[in-house]
Amino acid sequence: MFKKILIANRGEIACRVAATARRMGIRTVAVYSEADANAKHVAVCDEAVLLGEAPAKESYLCGDKIIAVALATGAEAIHPGYGFLSENAEFAESCAEAGLVFIGPPASAMRAMGSKSAAKSLMEKASVPLVPGYHGDEQDPAFLQRQADSIGYPVLLKASAGGGGKGMRVVDNADGFKEALASCKREAISSFGDDKVLVEKYLQRPRHIEIQVFADTHGNCIYLFERDCSVQRRHQKVLEEAPAPGMTEERRAAMGDAAVAAAKAVGYVGAGTVEFIANQDGSFYFMEMNTRLQVEHPVTEMITGTDLVEWQLRVAAGEPLPKRQDELRIHGHAIEARIYAENPDKGFLPSIGTLRHLETPAAVNFELGGNSLQPAAVRVDSGVREGDAISPYYDPMIAKLIVWGVDRKQALARMAQALAQYQIVGLAANIAFLKRLVECEAFAGANLDTGLIERHKDTLFPPARSVPVAALALACVALLEQEKDQASKHSGANGGDPWGQALGWRMNAQFIRTLPFSDEHGKEYEPCFKYLPHGWELTIKGIDVDVSLMTRGGVELSIKLGDTSVQGCVRRDGDAFHVFVGGGHHTLHYNDPLAHAGEAESEGGRLTAPMPGKVVAVLAAQGQDVKKGDPLVIMEAMKMEHTIAAPHDGTVDEVLYAVGDQVTDGAPLLAFRAAA
Ligand code: ADP
Repeated sequence: MFKKILIANRGEIACRVAATARRMGIRTVAVYSEADANAKHVAVCDEAVLLGEAPAKESYLCGDKIIAVALATGAEAIHPGYGFLSENAEFAESCAEAGLVFIGPPASAMRAMGSKSAAKSLMEKASVPLVPGYHGDEQDPAFLQRQADSIGYPVLLKASAGGGGKGMRVVDNADGFKEALASCKREAISSFGDDKVLVEKYLQRPRHIEIQVFADTHGNCIYLFERDCSVQRRHQKVLEEAPAPGMTEERRAAMGDAAVAAAKAVGYVGAGTVEFIANQDGSFYFMEMNTRLQVEHPVTEMITGTDLVEWQLRVAAGEPLPKRQDELRIHGHAIEARIYAENPDKGFLPSIGTLRHLETPAAVNFELGGNSLQPAAVRVDSGVREGDAISPYYDPMIAKLIVWGVDRKQALARMAQALAQYQIVGLAANIAFLKRLVECEAFAGANLDTGLIERHKDTLFPPARSVPVAALALACVALLEQEKDQASKHSGANGGDPWGQALGWRMNAQFIRTLPFSDEHGKEYEPCFKYLPHGWELTIKGIDVDVSLMTRGGVELSIKLGDTSVQGCVRRDGDAFHVFVGGGHHTLHYNDPLAHAGEAESEGGRLTAPMPGKVVAVLAAQGQDVKKGDPLVIMEAMKMEHTIAAPHDGTVDEVLYAVGDQVTDGAPLLAFRAAA
């Protein structure tokens, strides 16, 4: 076995590989970009070497630099993870030339599967079923149109070199063909540098079912059953599970055999995935083969009690596969949800920023390998920690949440519960959306197909609702208690002084206070609090209810609201109160009437970048006088523009960045002086 490997990746997969290597007594070398100097994957490896600047082409895609680091640090093998260089045949060859083991398939297998068209031709020869279509070299538009006409509409155009759901167009009828072809080719050339397309029958309500295959250098090739990845948005996976609901033993064996035939046809070695598209009646067709470990591999590990990274390392070191086909069994059911920094309500727009607070569900860590037959109920594969930033440079995945249950029902319940325990503060995340998704009737009832999210969009993207009274009450109590803490800190020795206690004690009259809050959608709330000896009377929306604090342990609060008791967690981030109650996350902004009172005079100093990004426009010049609200700098981050405006009338003393500069989260952009 190897003594030391280099992990040519970042984030959760780098951490995941490092965990297995550590368990096997293999030392690890991390590589990182400037943006990742403090990243988790750097911390969990034994050594780490800087590659270059943040953009992947300056760092994680620099094959030569990575090979040089491997040689300099004495690593014997390189694990590419997924993405970046994992399916790059030249890189695999360069590794071999440098005397390093590439932990993945031979370059020839990657090349054979790299083009969807060529792969289909190969599969045809290996008698693997294909979606009816045309995948030849002839690219004349009139010819392709005739092919589409004879396949029958709707058809799907796919960039042959495509991936990640890009470069695909559905064509509903002959009239739309020409235009769709032109636009598909444009995207194909700009994204993949190759405008070759293929045409295939567009299946109605299909399922995405893939088979995990594994081959060694001794001629063994087996399959580790299937994963159902039908729940997708824009052809990208959102939830993955194993086994596939409704799969019969016969079909499983047929798909497994077809996948093994596909792998053997290209002389495959290592972990690979053969993706199929299946009709509701179970008939299935080869779609493509991914020549690497997939993001969703943990669900397979959960149901088979294996560690696929360990298998990869053993196979790469020349060992035979740890198990034979007849030794593999499916045990229970596993579901994975991809936790993303994105806003599902805004078309899944990626979100960036700092993970100010991160609380993961109580994960009993899944002890991989060792033939454990009882996997942990909950596993979190993550590459970030609290305080880390999700930057615009890389995929905005925060973590993968994987649950296991004796059956699908139990796995579903555990998933819903684990999602309810997940707390993320600092950026938009898809937790609430995922929770609605796993709880929606179609998913719960295993009524799966790739159009599920679109078809159930009314349930999955409900209109914004008011913040529940319980959440509002929790935020108020948290605020009032914090004020009490502050007051007692300041009053110090005068602890007994009623004037310093912020208890709302008044000599003559009862003290009534309004706490102005607004929610994420700008809706305002004005709960009124009347101080009582042992709590408050809360008036909201014209209703009076008694509120009192029962227990408080840090951010965990338990309050009595009328006759009911409410438990929740309130995390404060400046003026924002993040209330986690009943599995939901409500953000309330406290519009503190006092907080900004003195600002006009004191504000000034430096205006900072709200998130990491690039300066795309500087609208103010040094020495320029500006009015409150005037745009000063425009930044671009995650395909969105953000305008930094003057907080007050004043003068720009200095502009610290120029157009095109990259700036980090919180970096001062300009020196600003408020008008006297
Ligand atoms: P990529 O390499 O970009 O991921 P795939 O060929 O794997 O592209 O297809 C991605 C997704 O597109 C599939 O999971 C499925 O949802 C959809 N898809 C692909 N081919 C078809 C088809 N013939 N009919 C219907 N949907 C399809």
